[in-house]
Amino acid sequence: MKSLRPWTKEELQEIVNLPTHLVAVITSDEIFAKIGPLGEKILGWEAHEIQDENVRKFIHPDDWHRTSAKIHELLLNTEELATEFTNRCLHKDQTYRWFSWTARASNGRVYSLGTDITEKMQFKEELNIQTLVLDNITEGVIICSVEGEIIYINSAERSLFGYTSKELLGKNIRMLNALNHEETNLYLKDVYNSLKQKGVWVGEWLNQKKNGETFTTSCRVTHLSLKGTRHLVIVQRDITLEKLRQKEQDELRNRFKIFFEQSILPMEIYDLAGNQLVVNQSWRDLFHLNEIDITEFNILTHPKPRELGIIPYFKRAYSGEAICIPTFYIDIRETYPDARPRWVEGWIFPILDEQKKVKELALILKDVTEERENSEKLRLIVAERERAEKRLTMAVKAGKIGIWEWDPGSDKVYWDESLCEIYGFAPGTFTGEVKEYDRLMYPDDREILWQKVKDATEKAIPYAIEHRIFRRDGQVRWIQGSGTTLRDECGKVVLLMGTAIDITDKKIASQDQEFLSSTSEILSSSLNYLENLQKMADLSINYFCDGCLIDQLLPDGIIKRIIVSACTEEVRERMFKVHQDFPQRYNQDHPLFIALSSGKTMLVPDIMKYSLEQKRYKTERYFDELRDMGICSVLVVRLKGKENLLGTITFFTTKGSRHTFDARSKWLAEELAYRTSMSIENSLLYLHSQEAIRARDEFVSIASHELKTPLTSLTLQNQMRKRQLQKDKSKILDEETFAKMLDADDGQLRRITRLIDDMLDISRIRAERLTIHKEKFEFCAFITDVLERLNPQLESAGCFLTVELCSEVFIRGDSYRIEQVVVNLLTNAMKYGAGRPIHIKVMASPVKVTLLVSDEGSGIDPKDIERIFQRFERAVSGSEVSGLGLGLYISRQIVELHDGALFVSSQPGVGSTFIMELPIGHD
Ligand code: ADP
Repeated sequence: MKSLRPWTKEELQEIVNLPTHLVAVITSDEIFAKIGPLGEKILGWEAHEIQDENVRKFIHPDDWHRTSAKIHELLLNTEELATEFTNRCLHKDQTYRWFSWTARASNGRVYSLGTDITEKMQFKEELNIQTLVLDNITEGVIICSVEGEIIYINSAERSLFGYTSKELLGKNIRMLNALNHEETNLYLKDVYNSLKQKGVWVGEWLNQKKNGETFTTSCRVTHLSLKGTRHLVIVQRDITLEKLRQKEQDELRNRFKIFFEQSILPMEIYDLAGNQLVVNQSWRDLFHLNEIDITEFNILTHPKPRELGIIPYFKRAYSGEAICIPTFYIDIRETYPDARPRWVEGWIFPILDEQKKVKELALILKDVTEERENSEKLRLIVAERERAEKRLTMAVKAGKIGIWEWDPGSDKVYWDESLCEIYGFAPGTFTGEVKEYDRLMYPDDREILWQKVKDATEKAIPYAIEHRIFRRDGQVRWIQGSGTTLRDECGKVVLLMGTAIDITDKKIASQDQEFLSSTSEILSSSLNYLENLQKMADLSINYFCDGCLIDQLLPDGIIKRIIVSACTEEVRERMFKVHQDFPQRYNQDHPLFIALSSGKTMLVPDIMKYSLEQKRYKTERYFDELRDMGICSVLVVRLKGKENLLGTITFFTTKGSRHTFDARSKWLAEELAYRTSMSIENSLLYLHSQEAIRARDEFVSIASHELKTPLTSLTLQNQMRKRQLQKDKSKILDEETFAKMLDADDGQLRRITRLIDDMLDISRIRAERLTIHKEKFEFCAFITDVLERLNPQLESAGCFLTVELCSEVFIRGDSYRIEQVVVNLLTNAMKYGAGRPIHIKVMASPVKVTLLVSDEGSGIDPKDIERIFQRFERAVSGSEVSGLGLGLYISRQIVELHDGALFVSSQPGVGSTFIMELPIGHD
């Protein structure tokens, strides 16, 4: 406040009209006394709207108090006081405008000159706000002139650089640079260019603190126009730490990238949705894929991982668990056609974000294909080796191959399990002493065996030899042995080793074959089969038993002992005798009978025990006999030809024998039985054929005789007639004589015809060409006819005939052939009936008709009964009654062709009845 001179009137008038200021004259009542010409211009009010109005109405309420105080202060201090103040005055548009007043009182009124400072005040306010904001932001802000003079620096920038405002304001910004002059120039060039083009420059700046430390900021430079002048606003943030962190992170990332890419472990990374994000080189190598091959793959949606059952592992990994996937087979050819399938093991690691949440999954694989293949190969090799070992063991066991080693140093012999078994030793019980080994050698073979061992040792000749040994149980066994030596570099024998195979069974089998072939030879050696059988039996008792019996079954069912072979003559004789004494004792329990009836080979290991067991045996004496002879076991085999039972062959052992009967003996006995059966059957056939030849020869002689007799008779008659004709011609025409001659000739010719017919029938039967032509006829009438036709013969034989017929009965048959049978039966009755009466009887039943032709002749011996129905068989000699022995044979064939039967019932000395049965001929 300063003291002023009072204004003059003129001055006051001049002031009121000032054009540069808003002039207000205010009374002590705070009323506008006057308003200068600018009032309307600046505030919008017209002079009359303001004049005489209370000042308070136009002043901002906040400023009124201050304004009022100033007015009153001025009025009190008269003209000497001039003051300045600011306030806001109301514009007509109801806004306020700022005014800066210079006022003084004069004549009880306040004269105020106001300057509109609204713009200035607004700028100041804005600046205040901006300063406040700038000072409160974390970025450092510098405002400088284009030349670099710092005009503003905010607090963040100050603390960033360590300077106070004072130290910086008005200074050149270069002082904050850490770059040298040239570098700074280069930078600035870039900054100005960018500002020019884009109005902004963004980059990093290397700065220097007050303490000399350098640091990097991220910098943003823009233009700012201040009071019409271009300035630069630089906003910067210290990024040193950030950069460091970034660098660290970059390094880390880089390291990880290198690690990931260069890792020898195949790796892949999956996002949360299961998409394969990235794979490394090893992964590509694993599947033989190129980078370009890699396409989209999703572990969670692809069907393959599901099939492999590995999805649950991924799910667990997604929930944050690091987990190992056991070996699995990856075949991703569906996605990557060129990929090779692999066996892998896997580990899944969740990759976490800063919130420790699973962000991605890393899958690390380990190729175990080779390992697996190797272990598979190894497994196969081991399995193969095991199999080979097993096979070898099996072969060794199956082949009963024993292995031995003899260490000449310790003179000990080692036997393996198989060899122990061959020698009958429990495993490990053989002492290994050479002496013990020597004791087990069969004396006859000992010398040669040791010689072989010696040669092997001294001359290095490996050997193979068949020799015998004693088993521990005393059994003699055949061994096929081989041996060789192992030598050191100096040729010294360090080990003798070899194998032994029990070939006893083979040996025995070949011996058996030899034995059987010699028996076959013997059995066919001569035509005398009994002699052959005896030799065969003798051979067998030297081979596998102590005795052999052959019992032949005769046609009448009787069993005849034909061969006995035994070690002693006494047993031989007694064996014949016991058979004769007790043949009737063979009942159903006798081994011989069982074998004969069932065909089963009977092996009785202990005949005495057997006899006791068979309760039905009441033949103690018989068995006493056998016991007395020392019979132990019995082996009975049936002898059977192609069709007929031939008997039995029995082998036995006696007390103290070296033979025992077992499966092999049974087999041998059966083989011998087969050969014996063949031999007996062949011999019987031979005998039979001999007999047949004899019968045929006899037939030929009889046939010649039979043919010759009527021919001779005819020849004689003829000669006689010739002579008579020469002697006495008158007798030629004697009718009776002539008729008799013709009858006699007829008889002879019939005889010849019959003979020839029979012979023809025989050959027809042989060729199976005897045929019948069936027709229906009444049998009784048929018999009556036949008898009538035969009447002349019957009469000439002087036979009395009785005939008994039944009522009418029809049959279907060949009447010609049946007549042949009836004629034959009647002819025989005449021939063999000794001239006594002959009885004919015909009987009928619903099924058959029976013809009985009975005579009272000498009858037929029972032993001939069947034989007479065979070819050329006669029960009488040719000299007794003439005949070929064919009639009954042919007759039976004819009857059998009619499905009938022809047989005879005869009693020697009483007579015979021939019975013919024929079926009734139903339609
Ligand atoms: P053949 O009478 O030509 O010898 P057969 O075959 O008719 O031929 O008879 C065979 C044998 O049967 C006769 O040789 C005879 O020994 C015996 N035989 C046949 N019929 C009788 C009979 N009625 N009485 C006794 N023996 C007979």
